[in-house]
Amino acid sequence: MYKTIENQLRKHTAPAAIRAEFRQHDFDRLRGFCLLVFCLSIAIWVLFDLLLSFIGGQGFTYRSMLLISGMCILTVVLLFVRKADHFSVLNLLFVSLMAFAVHWVVDDTLGDLQAGWLIMAASSILYSFSVLPVRRWSYFASALVTWLLLNPFQAEGTHLLDLRGLMIISYAAFITGLTFHSYSVLRESKLQNFYMSRLLLDQAYIDVLTEIPNRRSFMTQAEQHLGTDHEGQGRYLAMIDIDNFKRVNDQFGHDSGDVVLKRIAANIKASMNEFVYARLGGEEFVIYLWGLDQQATEERVAALCALVRETPGEHPVTISIGLTRIEPGDNLSNALGRADAALYDAKHEGKDRYVVWRAPDTSIAAHVD
Ligand code: GH3
Ligand code: MG
Ligand code: MG
Repeated sequence: MYKTIENQLRKHTAPAAIRAEFRQHDFDRLRGFCLLVFCLSIAIWVLFDLLLSFIGGQGFTYRSMLLISGMCILTVVLLFVRKADHFSVLNLLFVSLMAFAVHWVVDDTLGDLQAGWLIMAASSILYSFSVLPVRRWSYFASALVTWLLLNPFQAEGTHLLDLRGLMIISYAAFITGLTFHSYSVLRESKLQNFYMSRLLLDQAYIDVLTEIPNRRSFMTQAEQHLGTDHEGQGRYLAMIDIDNFKRVNDQFGHDSGDVVLKRIAANIKASMNEFVYARLGGEEFVIYLWGLDQQATEERVAALCALVRETPGEHPVTISIGLTRIEPGDNLSNALGRADAALYDAKHEGKDRYVVWRAPDTSIAAHVD
């Protein structure tokens, strides 16, 4: 069963917005890894530079210092880069500087080995950025710069069409193709997984009929908000139930009932968008409000009752609302219980109104507009 569902989901191609979101997500996750790759690349280059300077006799000059400083500056810039697209530019700069630095140290003091070292360096650089979260244009530009600066034919005694030259071209084509293939496959499969998890999360947390969040989503978000400190802010829970909804179903059919459910969900979404709301199940909805005082909260729920009452539709309905304040240290299920009790009273008071929960020994306050 899962295989069929997975195959079905994989048929969808990710839209542009999801691709952009994925690029950012991938970069956020791999920022530390990018930093590690930059630092290791510098460390390896410095090691070779030191070997060639002191054992190879090139001498450690101000140019080494300049190149190391340049690469370190780009690495520090990475610490402040937050956008995936900026990283693609930074990566191109880093690869260019690194390839230039290698081009500079791998010179003819290496004799016959020069072409081999240029190829090894180019392969290592190609591999390194193929596993980083860079855009396609940045990948191609980096590959081009790498081969231009580390072109093995710049080594003495290497000619395009002799045995050595043909072997070099074959290997360069192979390593470029291989790294590009692994870059594309890795990127595409990560994108597919990201897209699939988005689709599945949507299906798990969005109510299919009304397309607003469902109970699971509500519990997660409201619990999380309740767990964080919002000192001094009033927090309220409003439980909503459609009045005489069964009658709509019985008289006009289930499909008409569904249209009404969608309309109420749209009303809630339009008027309570800054809060956490959901369809709890059946014809019941819930809203978690914060940042308002009691009077403002009551005005908002009264306005919702009025909006539902006044929204034109083939089957006009009204709603009842039970409202409760969430006290510090309160938990969600207690608050839901109190809101439900207030809702029960709203129904008994005559429906199409909101009722604020009061402790049992005090009188219930009902409100009709
Ligand atoms: P009250 O004013 O006291 O709330 O009465 P009511 O008729 O609204 O309440 P009741 O709980 O008796 O009816 C709820 C109905 O909601 C029963 C059920 O068939 C219907 N219902 C639950 N889920 C759906 C749904 O997804 N679509 C439709 N069309 N109806 C649904
Ligand atoms: Mg009900
Ligand atoms: Mg009802």
